[in-house]
Amino acid sequence: MNTQVHKTDVVIVGAGPVGLFQVFELGLQGLSAHVVDALPQAGGQCSELYPDKPIYDIPAVVECTGDELTQKLLQQIKPFNAQFHFNQEVQVLEQRSGSASERAAFYLKTSAGTEFECGAVIIAAGGGSFTPVKLRVDGIDAFLDQQLFYRVVDPGIHADKNIVILGGGDSALDWAIALQPTARSITLVNRTDRFRAAEASVSKLRALEEQGKATIHMGVASAFREEAGRLREIMVTLRDEARSELWLAADHLLVFFGMSPKLGEIENWGLEFERRLIGVDQATFQTSRPGIYAVGDINIYPGKRKLILSGFHEAALAAYAIKEMFEPGKKVAVQYTTTSPKMHDRLGLT
Ligand SMILES: Cc1cc2nc3c(=O)[nH]c(=O)nc-3n(C[C@H](O)[C@H](O)[C@H](O)COP(=O)(O)OP(=O)(O)OC[C@H]3O[C@@H](n4cnc5c(N)ncnc54)[C@H](O)[C@@H]3O)c2cc1C
Repeated sequence: MNTQVHKTDVVIVGAGPVGLFQVFELGLQGLSAHVVDALPQAGGQCSELYPDKPIYDIPAVVECTGDELTQKLLQQIKPFNAQFHFNQEVQVLEQRSGSASERAAFYLKTSAGTEFECGAVIIAAGGGSFTPVKLRVDGIDAFLDQQLFYRVVDPGIHADKNIVILGGGDSALDWAIALQPTARSITLVNRTDRFRAAEASVSKLRALEEQGKATIHMGVASAFREEAGRLREIMVTLRDEARSELWLAADHLLVFFGMSPKLGEIENWGLEFERRLIGVDQATFQTSRPGIYAVGDINIYPGKRKLILSGFHEAALAAYAIKEMFEPGKKVAVQYTTTSPKMHDRLGLT
């Protein structure tokens, strides 16, 4: 448990593309930020759902993948030294003082026990924190992170294992192909013979099957066998007419059924919601609670489009609004990064 309470101007909930750009816009205003994300890395949907797929509508970037956009944003925000806290969800949010213009107006605590005091909170939580869709087989949870995995963190631990992969999307096929050379055996089980993955990956896996290096079955995992507390075999009910049962050796079971986003505790923070999205003022992106802002996919207002560039615009206006909230009565003028010495100073260029 972390006993230090981090004091900062703003806590950003979510390190997706919009949360990352929010760090930049706050930094230009001279405001510090800590960023919390439930995932183990930055990038939100870009790195979790489409790291290798190209994006074509980021202004002045003709083409970049989800991962490349994330890396570029991380590079752009470097001068502002924001601290990141991964693998944890923000759970507790309490108002500590009546005035939202005070820098310690809010107290936050995460699922890992990290604590913050800040003057403003920006929710950049997209559709919520990504939680893997679980395999529903009674008792299988006992093997979680030992022999049952919902993500590959260290490919090395799967070497020389009989691997059974469940799923038919990009992650399932990509990992089947990537782990095949070092695995003892690799078997992919999908509900149907239709895959929801890139055509090139499907062809590659079919080729491995033809070479006898991988096996593909159509079916559903429905039971398991263990021995001395270790998972040994998975039973698959096949999609043939007889619904035959097939037992597969499984040292490691990798499940890629997709991610389901969950809003979690954010729903209990007393904010006004419309269709599970947070209502905001279109000029400031403040929510119904003063001092709490929402940017990116999580918010809703007339004309909202869930696009990265919309979130970037919202992040800029939210930063101006927070600066004005911290300095009541003062109008924050626009300063160009091209010509403003103050901006150059904040960007570490002088
Ligand atoms: C396949 C695909 C392709 C796309 N292509 C494009 C495109 O070409 N152009 C475009 O503009 N948009 C595209 N989008 C949409 C784009 O990815 C989203 O608009 C964008 O990711 C929204 O960014 P965000 O930062 O608001 O949220 P997200 O990217 O969803 O990030 C939110 C982050 O908040 C974290 N989080 C949530 N709740 C909590 C909590 N309580 N505590 C801690 N962390 C939390 C999540 O883990 C996540 O990392 C695409 C989306 C998909 C799925």
